[in-house]
Amino acid sequence: MLPTKSFAAMSATTPLEAYSFDRRAVGKKDVQIEILYCGVCHSDLHQAKNEWGGSIYPMVPGHEIVGKVISVGTGVSKFKVGDLAGVGVMVDSCKHCASCKQDQENYCDEGMTGTYNSKERDGSGITMGGYSTQIVVDEHYVFHISPNLDLPAVAPLLCAGITTYSPLVFAGVKKGMKVAIVGLGGLGHMGVKFAVSFGAEVTVISTSPNKEADAKKLGATHFLISTNEEDMKKYNNYFDVILDAISANHDYTQYLNLLALNGKLMVVGLPTESPKVLPFSLIANRRSIIGSCIGGMKETQEMLDYCAQNNIVSDIEIIPIQNINEAYDRMLKGDVKYRFVIDLASLKS
Ligand code: NAP
Ligand code: ZN
Repeated sequence: MLPTKSFAAMSATTPLEAYSFDRRAVGKKDVQIEILYCGVCHSDLHQAKNEWGGSIYPMVPGHEIVGKVISVGTGVSKFKVGDLAGVGVMVDSCKHCASCKQDQENYCDEGMTGTYNSKERDGSGITMGGYSTQIVVDEHYVFHISPNLDLPAVAPLLCAGITTYSPLVFAGVKKGMKVAIVGLGGLGHMGVKFAVSFGAEVTVISTSPNKEADAKKLGATHFLISTNEEDMKKYNNYFDVILDAISANHDYTQYLNLLALNGKLMVVGLPTESPKVLPFSLIANRRSIIGSCIGGMKETQEMLDYCAQNNIVSDIEIIPIQNINEAYDRMLKGDVKYRFVIDLASLKS
């Protein structure tokens, strides 16, 4: 057993606090990673506060993990001690269903095992995430990280990056297409970076007027405030693809109306209440709503390699773990540009 320091939510209503637990010993196919940085995803907050239901406590959140390999099992072939390594949203899946066999472990028929707040498949306990000093993961669920990128700014690629890259690729985003990103947060700002790098004309649709300059700096051509009905109407039937990365409850109809013929509303944001969809807005222009859940192992490595080749990382604010509760409050107010990343050195000292 490997004694591990962390910060955990002990209940839905109390702040995260220091917590110690044991990781499993390194198995044959396992990689042991010293965690250096971990991004703070809105899903961490949703789950720590039990907004989706079914949360298990104590919960150690964190699924945007980067660090250094400190030991490997005897059967490990992809990693060696000293390598940089990353872990994202999943640490296991059934490995034999149709989805797993097609490198889409994120859509495992039996359900993927989340990096935290999930039951281990062998019944040994509950998974614990990256707000901790180390993690032990089967090598199949570990990524190679390029040493050429700024390491803390790579961490958010493991969730915010792949969660926006995958639906934009699935929707075939390319030069000449008109794409809107809704919600300029951790996911949204990565969505803008990818859509711009794929050559699309990008519009940001936001509730925050003070984000306009940033949106333009990220490469957006247009910036719309979603509450300004006059301006929104000007873009009716305009976009080929809209990526919805909103964390709070909202209706889809307003965004569906902006889609051109065969337009796709790609949904990644996960608020708690059912949204409103007006069927008339759906049948007009033969529009579709498509959900997307992170990405498979192969596609996530492809995304990381694409980022290394194209110098794409996240815009981050580094925090010590002791500031995590304040970071959650600030994330709820939209006061983060655009991802908090925990420096785990703060937990080791
Ligand atoms: P975030 O950094 O907090 O960004 C969310 C953004 O939503 C905010 O910056 C804000 O953008 C917008 N927003 C907030 N409240 C709003 C409201 N009341 N009405 C309209 N817009 C509002 O969160 P994140 O980490 O990017 O995560 C976004 C969502 O994606 C979360 O629900 C998360 O759980 C989910 N998620 C899904 C997956 C997946 O696989 N599908 C993976 C990771 C995360 P503006 O200020 O621009 O309005
Ligand atoms: Zn996430």
